[in-house]
Formats: sequence, structure tokens, C-alpha cells
Amino acid sequence: MVKICCIGAGYVGGPTMAVIALKCPAIEVVVVDISEQRIAGWNSERLPIYEPGLDDVVRQCRGRNLFFSTEVHRHVGDADIVFVSVNTPTKTCGLGAGKAADLTYWESAARMIADVSRSDKIVVEKSTVPVKTAEAIEKILVHNSRGVRYQILSNPEFLAEGTAIQDLFAPDRVLIGGRETPEGRAAVKALKDVYAQWVPEERIITTNLWSAELSKLAANAFLAQRISSVNAISALCEATGADVTQVAHSVGKDARIGPRFLSASVGFGGSCFQKDILNLVYICECYGLPEVAGYWREVIRINDYQKSRFVNRVVSSMFNTVAGKKVAVLGFAFKKDTGDTRETPAIDVCKGLLGDKAVVSIYDPQVTGEQVSRDLAMNKFDWDHPRHLQPLSDSDLAKQVGMAADAYEAARDAHAVCILTEWDEFRSLDYKRMFDAMHKPAFIFDGRNVVDVAKLREIGFVVYSIGKPLDDWLKDMPAVA
Ligand code: ADP
Repeated sequence: MVKICCIGAGYVGGPTMAVIALKCPAIEVVVVDISEQRIAGWNSERLPIYEPGLDDVVRQCRGRNLFFSTEVHRHVGDADIVFVSVNTPTKTCGLGAGKAADLTYWESAARMIADVSRSDKIVVEKSTVPVKTAEAIEKILVHNSRGVRYQILSNPEFLAEGTAIQDLFAPDRVLIGGRETPEGRAAVKALKDVYAQWVPEERIITTNLWSAELSKLAANAFLAQRISSVNAISALCEATGADVTQVAHSVGKDARIGPRFLSASVGFGGSCFQKDILNLVYICECYGLPEVAGYWREVIRINDYQKSRFVNRVVSSMFNTVAGKKVAVLGFAFKKDTGDTRETPAIDVCKGLLGDKAVVSIYDPQVTGEQVSRDLAMNKFDWDHPRHLQPLSDSDLAKQVGMAADAYEAARDAHAVCILTEWDEFRSLDYKRMFDAMHKPAFIFDGRNVVDVAKLREIGFVVYSIGKPLDDWLKDMPAVA
């Protein structure tokens, strides 16, 4: 029986290993993590991450050939294939601060593998790490090997949060990078055999190590770039009276462009896009390619611009002040169908509103009040000027931020509603009921284009929807960008 151990029970490691266990009953899969709380969660009825379909997969295999454990050393020592899926945040100090990946977790995982291994191992890089990390890890392992032979593979994960299980069941492609030596090729084949249990052969791509690593960064940079491109056009639409939904639809009909990832919004979020682009920027700078670095940096600049443009629009529409006014925030996760708030645009939008002394009442079907408090109190690292922005103090948090049990409670006595995540339930709310309970004029700022603008205007709302023609009210109060 092949034994797989995955280090890191997070958004990537957990779902990926659960699906491998489900599809390969002959393989024993153990997911290990240093966080006892995370592992306890995975062994409980309430999994530590929300992902549609995940509960079902875990229920079918847990205790059969899928295990979650904090006994990191024992399980890594026993495994034939070790996946490394630990966090790789952006460095906050020292060389490359604000851009380069912090490989502390990766390095300590590699050293630990070297310490506990007594048999040959295939080590698979699953975290998104900057190009050429595999080489560094290989060096650590080889220099500490004591006779154990290692093969390093790069197998970047392309799943999207919110559709992780679907993506893992039917991936567009699986990418495996390895050394172009006989041993390297054998290792690639061993991992390919695992995926081939359920993924059609022609979708499994094999490349050299560096291509695999760079492909992941490039794919995320391209996806984020599409969002920033359409968001840049959304600003022009508002200025000129075009409708970004119509423009995006027409543009996307071109088969060379395609329709997906062309929705204008308040900005992209999630743990990967910004981080991966910053990595790319840093690598380009290190290799003496400032023009290339600048090109990708602009994708993040437009994203920051889109968030501040949204806040400016809210404040300027409401007579240039939101001080003391209640603003309902619907949605805090970085996208629908996930409780993940990492880099969510809601953090910057809320901080902007709170900076103008608004009182915000937040409702999100999957995000807890504790998470929101952590996010708003967190030191936000400014990638452009390596320094920390002021976090919110506990007393400001308590005075200005509240959680609501549903959208109606959030909107009660509010002056405005801001929609920041495209949860399906926000499409079918009883907006008349919300309108009746709000101060007048009642504003809706839709950062995700989920509401029917005409219908809401009929109810009496002043409506702003990203990239849509502005109503007269908003035209009279131009946003200062
Ligand atoms: P991702 O989104 O890439 O899956 P997460 O932050 O959700 O990242 O998960 C990474 C996990 O890796 C965390 O639960 C963390 O506790 C775990 N981790 C980090 N370093 C180690 C280590 N050396 N050994 C075991 N687990 C680790």
C-alpha cells in the first residue's frame, strides 16, 4: 500500500488529500499539522473550512484511508510520498519585505522531513512557492540526507475556493514538474499514477520543475489581470455612461478572450492573487527586469484603486460624510461559497468607511464576528511602501463595528447598504422590507453587480452598481478618486 502524508491541513492540503483518499482507496492518506486545533476540527463534525461537498467526501473516507493527525514526525517518516502544503505568506520584514515569499514554514518542513526520514521519499511541493524553491528544498534534503534518496516534484494546486471539490474531481489540468533524470521521471510517473485513478491522462501535464512552479504564478497573475482589466474598464464606463456588464459580455464573446473572469467588482481578494503577483514582481526585479515587474505591479495597483474608488463613491454620495451613520455591509468573505477572508476587499472597504467614522453592521453567512475583528485589527502590510498601516484599536472596533444575524438586521436604521460578496442569497432579498427600515435617502452600493438596479430604483433606493450608468444623484456628486 502506498502511503501519502501531507504536511499542512489548510485550504489546499485538506480538500486535496480528501479527494485523493476518496478516489484511491488503495492509498493511505494522512494529513498532519502542527495546529492541534486544526486537526481536532478535521476530526470533528464541523470541519475547519467551509467548502461545498467537502463534508461528504471526508465522511466517506475518514477512518478508512484518510486520517488527520498531529503526529507529524511519525507519519512523515512512514510515508512514500510527502506533500508539503504549508503556508507561504509574504515577508513582512527584511530583504524583499512586502513582496518576497516567506519560506520559513517551508524550510522548517523540509528540515523536519530530513530529520525523520529513514526511507527514500518523493517530496511534492504543493504550496505556491516562488520559482526555484524546489531547488532550495532539494539542497536542504540532500545535504541532510544520511543515505536517504529524495526526489522533489512540483505539483501546484489550481483549485478555486468555493468550488474546490468540483475542481479536484474534474480538474482542467494536473501539472507535475520533476527532474529530467531517470529517477526524476520515475517519481513523476509515481505521482501521475495517483492522479490517473480519476483524471484522464491527457489532462496530466508533465514539465520540468521550474516550468511547473512558474506556471502557477503565471496562471494566477493572468487571472488577476483579467479582473483588473475589467475593473479598469468599469471606471471608464461610469464616467461615460456605458454599462460594464454589456461591454464584458461583448468582449467575452470573442473566442480568443472567452467569457469567464470578466465580472467587474469591488476588487479581487483571496490568499493567492496578490501574493503570487508580488512574488512574480520580486522575481522579475531580482533578475533585472524592472519593466516586467512594473507591468504586473500595475494589476495590484488597479485592484487597490478599485477598492478606494468604491469607498470614495460611498462617502461622496452621502454628502461627503458617513460619520456616525450606520452602513450595512453584506458579505465579508473574498467571494461566495467560502468563509475565507484572506485579503478580502471587504477589509479595505470597511477600514475606509471606519476611517471616515461610519458605524458598520456586517452580515456574512459564513464569516464569524471573531474573524472580522481579527481582520480589522490586523496590521495590514502595505506592499507598495513596506510599512504597517494603522490597525483598528479594540475600542474603535467595539464602538464602530457590529455583526448582524441577517441582512435585514444589518440594514435596520442604516443609511446605506454595501454589497461586498456575491452570495446568492443577496440576489433574492426583500429589498422593499430593507428600504422601509432604513433612513432616507436610502443608498445601495453594489460592489458585485448582484442587484436589479431598475427594480431597486423603483423601490426608492439611490443605487450605485460598479461600472453601470450612474443615476442623477450620483452624477451630481462626483466621486473624488
Ligand atoms: P493553504 O491555503 O496554502 O492551504 P493554510 O494557511 O490554510 O494554507 O494552511 C497551511 C497549514 O500548514 C496551517 O494549518 C499550518 O498550521 C500548517 N503548517 C505550517 N508549518 C507546518 C509544519 N512545519 N508542520 C506541520 N504543519 C505546518
